[in-house]
Amino acid sequence: MTTAVEETLVLVKPDGVARNLTGEILRRIEAKGYSLVDIRMLQADRDLLAKHYAEHEGKPFYEPLVEFMESGPVVALRVAGNRVIEGFRSLAGATDPTSALPGTIRGDLARDWGLKVQQNLVHGSDSPESAQRELALWFD
Ligand code: ADP
Ligand code: MG
Repeated sequence: MTTAVEETLVLVKPDGVARNLTGEILRRIEAKGYSLVDIRMLQADRDLLAKHYAEHEGKPFYEPLVEFMESGPVVALRVAGNRVIEGFRSLAGATDPTSALPGTIRGDLARDWGLKVQQNLVHGSDSPESAQRELALWFD
């Protein structure tokens, strides 16, 4: 066991907001025992999304991803807890909602709609470095 109190960035993506799943997603995070530190709803612009998804620039799904993310409001959550970065990724499930396991947010609540991008309800930071960088982008 390790102790590493962390903060992570969770985004409820436009599909999650449009489907009224923000409360359900937050419920799962809080039920797990993680703490909500800050929350904001916003319409992300291209500049913010380009910075957020810089690692994916040039990939085939990049442009559809940015278009999807700017298609409606998102909810940004600053979430804290021991090993929360890894823990939230477990709660979220696999990127592809078809293969995401039941019991996860994506496995229970999302499916592949056959569009150019995975509409998989949530984003979660994938490392302490990403979390620090992304929290600064969305909250500072
Ligand atoms: P995750 O969100 O699980 O960390 P990635 O960082 O790899 O996944 O990708 C960012 C987002 O881009 C995904 O959540 C998904 O919306 C979209 N995406 C990733 N890979 C694909 C793909 N092969 N086809 C379509 N969309 C994708
Ligand atoms: Mg990622």
